[in-house]
Amino acid sequence: LDVVRAVEPRIADAIARELTAQRESLKLIASENYASPATLLAMGNWLSDKYAEGTVGRRFYAGCQQVDTVESIAAEHARELFGASHAYVQPHSGIDANLVAFWAVLAQRVEAPFLREKSVRQVNDLTESDWAQLRHDFGDQRMLGMALDAGGHLTHGFRPNISGKMFHQRSYGTNPTTGLLDYDALRETAREFRPMIIVGGYSAYPRKVNFATLREIADEVGATLMVDMAHFAGLVAGKVFTGDFDPVPHAHIVTTTTHKTLRGPRGGMVLCQPELADQVDRGCPMVLGGPLPHVMAAKAVALAEARTASFRDYAQRVVDNAAALAEGLQRRGVRLVTGGTENHLVLIDASQLGGAATGLTGRQAEAALLDAGIVTNRNAIPQDPNGAWYTSGVRIGTPALTTRGLGVAEMDTIAELIATVLSSTRPAADSKAKYTLDESVAAKVSGQASDLLSGFP
Ligand code: PLP
Repeated sequence: LDVVRAVEPRIADAIARELTAQRESLKLIASENYASPATLLAMGNWLSDKYAEGTVGRRFYAGCQQVDTVESIAAEHARELFGASHAYVQPHSGIDANLVAFWAVLAQRVEAPFLREKSVRQVNDLTESDWAQLRHDFGDQRMLGMALDAGGHLTHGFRPNISGKMFHQRSYGTNPTTGLLDYDALRETAREFRPMIIVGGYSAYPRKVNFATLREIADEVGATLMVDMAHFAGLVAGKVFTGDFDPVPHAHIVTTTTHKTLRGPRGGMVLCQPELADQVDRGCPMVLGGPLPHVMAAKAVALAEARTASFRDYAQRVVDNAAALAEGLQRRGVRLVTGGTENHLVLIDASQLGGAATGLTGRQAEAALLDAGIVTNRNAIPQDPNGAWYTSGVRIGTPALTTRGLGVAEMDTIAELIATVLSSTRPAADSKAKYTLDESVAAKVSGQASDLLSGFP
């Protein structure tokens, strides 16, 4: 850090303070983790300085031997870890991985059949009506993804993301009574809407998803099944999600981030069946610039770690801890969407406690918890009356604290701390953001959180 400090001390300070904050607060954000020192160090080096557009063995720059080695090893680990026939490790983030996947599917299903009929010369000479046809074909593409308030992600066809502009979107949701994914309704919507792509996967759904059923539905309507396993890739890698709950054997194409439960560097990755491999490998230059070789090196290290027995043990503990946290919260009157969890995350309905209305929004609950040293994020719940900004929910997850070594006993203490904050926070009458939380309560809970963490440095 001194080397950085000599150039720009404010950046060195921000890095040091970030480390302190991450050490001293209860990190319960479901999409965060602590990458290993080996993973972090594999990222901070001279590979960062290299340009390597293209793919392994087919680069647009000279001198890419080491990048080829790095990319091949990362892809090999990914294939072997997930049992995938093809892996593309260049995407810089989860959004990029999804964009690569969308274009690969579009290219396979629309562009390739169109262009197959034309020679290269003809393509250069496409007429206005050819282009109109192409635009029509692309414009008519449909995507069916999980509704945002049911736990889906913005990249699954929603307006603020380019996927909502590339595709006509419809969403599937959860049963209003149980909160569980409604496969029959999904099948009905698919039959009627006839999507080109069905997207499985989520950011805030606390249950397993049956991907064999999704594939059956996709096959029935002629859709490509894409699964975005960004949130639960670590549980697939750690063999907690197997059989019908492992997306890799069922989906045509799978995308993921590498930094959540998988515990790698920030980044993305695409796994796919052989018929999509060529299109996926065109991610650069289609939607990606030069790869980040230093991040691919860190992906290789993290994937190697994920192939160990200790990672399997970690993945199981993530799920055991989430179950213990959910049970502890419910015992203290906290309402959970779906009534529990089967994965790494728990979705709290902050608007109720002990069966009574609290009047709290997710935003108020998130801020009050932060005052008490508990880092979470607000999240919409199904049919959320407070919309996507204020929300009524708080999402929490166990990947990071499990990495630190906390176990089920500590989860019960954390449930107590969360319930204490929620029961002590009062919403302001005139604002969905303001609230009061007695300073002494915040200080006491924050002290208890620090004491708890001091046992797990
Ligand atoms: N897909 C899912 C399901 C996610 O939850 C997220 C991030 O929260 C992403 C994609 C996007 O990942 P990134 O932030 O790396 O672009």
